[in-house]
Amino acid sequence: MNVKQLGAQTYVVESPVNVGIYVLNDKDVCLIDTGNSKDFGKKIAKLLEEHNWNLKYIINTHSHADHIGGNAYLQGKYHCEIYAERTESYFINNPLLEPSLMYGAMPIKGLYSSFLMAKPSICYDISNLQVDGLKIINLSGHSFGLIGVVTSDNVIFTGDAYTSQRILEKYAIQYTYDVDGFLKTLDFLEKTEYAYYVPSHGEVERDIKNTLRINRETTLEIEKEVLDILEYKNTFSELLNELAKKYHINLTLEQYHIIGTTIKSLLTKLSDDGIIEVAIKDANLWIDKK
Ligand SMILES: [Zn+2]
Repeated sequence: MNVKQLGAQTYVVESPVNVGIYVLNDKDVCLIDTGNSKDFGKKIAKLLEEHNWNLKYIINTHSHADHIGGNAYLQGKYHCEIYAERTESYFINNPLLEPSLMYGAMPIKGLYSSFLMAKPSICYDISNLQVDGLKIINLSGHSFGLIGVVTSDNVIFTGDAYTSQRILEKYAIQYTYDVDGFLKTLDFLEKTEYAYYVPSHGEVERDIKNTLRINRETTLEIEKEVLDILEYKNTFSELLNELAKKYHINLTLEQYHIIGTTIKSLLTKLSDDGIIEVAIKDANLWIDKK
């Protein structure tokens, strides 16, 4: 595993889902996220053993399965305490909530993959945790209560608050629970001056202004695309179908719900901005531009 030191007490394990390590004292560490699987959790445990580190805490930036996949294994092995934002902690304790949120009912077969559902682990509200050298900040938008973790080395772990340029070029439409909140978080991050920014997916960067700009422009481009499609299509299904064609997305059962969440969130923003009206017509979610 590729471990990079970013400060006296701060390390990052660079992988498809970057994991943070903050050294608390000469034996204990705190992990920031645990990767996408039990196997990844095992690799982390091996790494901790090589350094003679004991795992005292895990902080999850949010509850998505690719960030908490190693939780259950690591908690079983180290009996460590796990913390996340309060609402996210409900999802970590009861991962069935994640596909339930997307489906809107008891999830149908096909939405139970490890991509959407991790194993449960016992997770507490992070407002009850005080760790010397760590500061928690709200970066919600991508998910309900996404948090960033800032270390005493002026390094911030940003979870999925933004996505690297390389990944955005590949997948333009990212999962977003609250598009308006996502854009506000980008504005907030733009005003910050951390030594290193560590997103969960993509490269560690010292200056993320350009990356933030690309995130904002990509979202606004999709919003414009939605408004263009609404000139000649009115139902949510038609809108989603047109977007999938435009962005070359294969709408599987999973992707329908992931991309569909983002587009519904965009509709919420456009409705709040007074640009569209949404109603039910012939059992369709029907969208009219004002
Ligand atoms: Zn996520």
